[in-house]
Amino acid sequence: MVLEQIKKLTYIINSVILFLVFALMGFFWISGARVLVWFSIPTAGVYLLGYYLIRKENLDLYVRLVYGWLTLYMSLATICLGYSFGFHLYSMSMIPIIFYTEYMAYQLKTRSISTTGYCALVIAAYLITTGYSLSASPVYETDSRIAAVFWITNSLAVLGFVTFYSRIMVKMIIASDKQLTDRANVDRLTRLYNRHYMMERLKEAYEDSASYSIAMIDIDNFKGINDKYGHSAGDEVLKKVAEAMTETCPGSVVSRWGGEEFLILTKDPAGTADGAAGEYGADSVDAPSLIEKLREKVSKMVIEFEGQKIAVTLTAGIEKKSPDLTVDRWIDAADEKLYFGKNNGKNRVVT
Ligand code: GH3
Ligand code: MG
Ligand code: MG
Repeated sequence: MVLEQIKKLTYIINSVILFLVFALMGFFWISGARVLVWFSIPTAGVYLLGYYLIRKENLDLYVRLVYGWLTLYMSLATICLGYSFGFHLYSMSMIPIIFYTEYMAYQLKTRSISTTGYCALVIAAYLITTGYSLSASPVYETDSRIAAVFWITNSLAVLGFVTFYSRIMVKMIIASDKQLTDRANVDRLTRLYNRHYMMERLKEAYEDSASYSIAMIDIDNFKGINDKYGHSAGDEVLKKVAEAMTETCPGSVVSRWGGEEFLILTKDPAGTADGAAGEYGADSVDAPSLIEKLREKVSKMVIEFEGQKIAVTLTAGIEKKSPDLTVDRWIDAADEKLYFGKNNGKNRVVT
């Protein structure tokens, strides 16, 4: 999560807490709980200061101050009004917030609060205040119906907080996991799968009973493109060719095998008749027709880069999976056909 999102979320939470502080202040005033009314004033001050700290991106100090104060506030409310109001429950919502803060500090590369120490403090505050209110009567006696309303409201607020924080934590974990998988499997320049990922898919295809083909594809005279138009232009050509590949072969696994070489894995149409759907479902034509379509499309493309118009062609070698070939031999066989194509005029598909 980026800093701006964290700040936005913190602003929202700060506003919710500040609103609650004012609402509670009104209630304490009506109930005659003077100590709590007076304590609400610095509390509101702390949350107003919170806005300043968020704006200054001093989130570390913000968390220490705001959540520390909240613990103190809730403890005092428990002692003054008694256990039955449910203010002590807020300590439960503190724990996921503390861990969220640790994650936030890690993301922002700032110092983290001592998570265990802080949790121990919250637990101690919980035990002391609930222990006290179990053994002694509250400072202010109030109607038990009011206590019941508070118990429900506070319980819902606490459960809401816990649900909200747990949800965003899991969402963040999933997002970061996806990002890592993506980084491990996808080539940064072309956004195609990389060689490592393709090897895994080739092994899977090799084990599968269905019929598959691979196409080893190499851009023709690419060194010349780099020399003539510059390396950045070469990169642009790689990106545009990669886009053409994913557009033309939506049902295949398309990878950047290395440099200006690409490897495409397709499931042969006969293989799709068994009802296997998903990634391979869309390419209903056989590999030679598909790759020929791609070759033709690329040969007609005019890639524009910084006012220059670049034409590009491909040569491909296609090999069907065969039980006589290992995965490595399967790749070598496609490679041999590619080089036959290179030595025999280029801009062609060899089957
Ligand atoms: P052929 O038709 O025989 O394939 O000739 P070619 O010029 O395409 O092949 P060669 O192997 O001589 O040159 C490939 C060039 O690709 C050399 C290398 O600098 C360039 N290259 C490899 N990776 C990248 C890249 O990521 N970006 C750019 N711009 N160039 C790259
Ligand atoms: Mg080449
Ligand atoms: Mg090459």
